[in-house]
Amino acid sequence: MTLAGALSLGGAAAAANVIGAWAVTRSAKASLRFIEVIVAFAAGFMLSLAIVGAIPEALARKPVEGAAVVLLGYLLVHLSQHTLTPHFHFGEETHSVSRVASHSALVGLLLHTFFDGVAIASGFLVDTALGVLFFVAIFLHKLPEGVTISSLAIASGESPRRAILSAAALGAATIAGVLLTSRLGFLTEYGLALSAGVTIYVGASNLVPEFQHKRTWRLPAAFFVGAGMFLALRALLGEVLA
Ligand SMILES: [Zn+2]
Ligand SMILES: [Zn+2]
Repeated sequence: MTLAGALSLGGAAAAANVIGAWAVTRSAKASLRFIEVIVAFAAGFMLSLAIVGAIPEALARKPVEGAAVVLLGYLLVHLSQHTLTPHFHFGEETHSVSRVASHSALVGLLLHTFFDGVAIASGFLVDTALGVLFFVAIFLHKLPEGVTISSLAIASGESPRRAILSAAALGAATIAGVLLTSRLGFLTEYGLALSAGVTIYVGASNLVPEFQHKRTWRLPAAFFVGAGMFLALRALLGEVLA
């Protein structure tokens, strides 16, 4: 896969940020309910991808430091989205928040979305199958990501236009991540391990808490189907690309 190929997939993922934001500014309730199911599905898919797909490849390349860098990826997201951020959670923001909370959440999410791009590019550095699997995982959670940032912006009193612009900034960070992975030595070497840690965080600590308290069978079902679909898609890509 060429850089142009990885870039166009990064661009498609970036567009999903803006579509999620658009659903919020239009208060499209049906779309938001659909996005809730996607959140649960994406959580299962991302956890499987990180644990079964990315960590073994990262450790095969860097057996000792690789594991520490996976942990570093997890800790970095916690630092940027929670420790340094007064108020952040994934999913639609339904109560009013301060400007500071909304701006610091944007900065935290910019780091995470930068690693969305690093993950796609790092996957393709291993092989096409892992690149495609990372693309699917990232595309899936980019709709809710757009919902998160745009509803936060609106809850802090920003205009719908600013809300969409915030989502576009997240998309741009992802494209920057794709572009810089093969250019920065550290990212070329450790991007996969970092992305594995970030992916575990997003799946288990951002997405799972969004639905685990909801009393409906649809969401846990989507979670388990998401985990299974990762394994099925990986097997299918192995056949097709072999
Ligand atoms: Zn909130
Ligand atoms: Zn993301």
